Amino acid sequence: MRIDGRNLGANNVDRIASPPVVSRFAPSPNGPLHLGHAYSALSAWEIARRYVGRCLLRIEDIDVARSRSEHVAGIFDDLRWLGLTWDEPVLRQSEHFSVYQAAAERLRQMQLLYRCFATRAEITAGAMTDICDPEGAPIYSRQHSQMSGAEQAARMERGELFAWRLDMARACDIARAKRGGQALTFTELHDDGRHEIVMARPELWGDAVIVRKELPTSYHLSVVVDDARQGVTHVTRGRDLYAATDLQRLLQVLLDLPEPIYCHHRLIVNDDGRKLAKSEGSRALADLRLQGETSADVVQRLGFNLSV
Ligand code: GLU
Repeated sequence: MRIDGRNLGANNVDRIASPPVVSRFAPSPNGPLHLGHAYSALSAWEIARRYVGRCLLRIEDIDVARSRSEHVAGIFDDLRWLGLTWDEPVLRQSEHFSVYQAAAERLRQMQLLYRCFATRAEITAGAMTDICDPEGAPIYSRQHSQMSGAEQAARMERGELFAWRLDMARACDIARAKRGGQALTFTELHDDGRHEIVMARPELWGDAVIVRKELPTSYHLSVVVDDARQGVTHVTRGRDLYAATDLQRLLQVLLDLPEPIYCHHRLIVNDDGRKLAKSEGSRALADLRLQGETSADVVQRLGFNLSV
């Protein structure tokens, strides 16, 4: 099977999952869970069950302005309703900013990060091509990569906020050297049990933001740090995060973190074929529950069978 045209042809790689398998479901509590989240959660628990492992729940609430405690409570209720259980205590990323800061510091010490004060408008205006990153944002033209220390100090003095960006070219060079000259790859586990080695192309992200302007971290940095320290062996999530894996594999190599296996599952779409969004409350699990659907209906509708 191909994903994104990047199959390297290495099917049935001899990389049998060896215990203990640890998978995880890592929702961001900025909206109610919908059917797409239920599919992700059930996939994560299904992998753990298949390999007699454990599935963890992690609350990805680094974006403290958008996260809501009622959505955290909703996540717990919805998962219990689906019949899923998890280990306590649940890791909440907002309680661990210092760990992500330490990882960023390590990258800084490797001279892989630089300050970027550019505003969104400046980044768009400065973009040299129409080519966007995998999330559709313009590729940053590195305007601030060579900014003098004096100008940085002056801008900070004026209270200008800055992000820390990854020097992608240098990062790819260092990662290649750390891998003994081998190309960066990740392993994708397909539904039919095949393992596929996929070429990672982090350069498609350009000089990605690793520490956001208004936060002490970013999604990509926190996710790799937590997958590693929680001992996650199988990262189960939707195909919308497939391209993120390239950047995350790069960070894992740079930070000497272990390599998990990835399982990017199909996306649950609307009747008109669009990916479900959190704003579409009509498909929130809590609403389905109120409309009288049972969890067994939902589990079956999504194609899982929890009773075997
Ligand atoms: N927190 C992310 C989300 O809710 C998922 C991150 C991941 O599974 O890697 O979309």
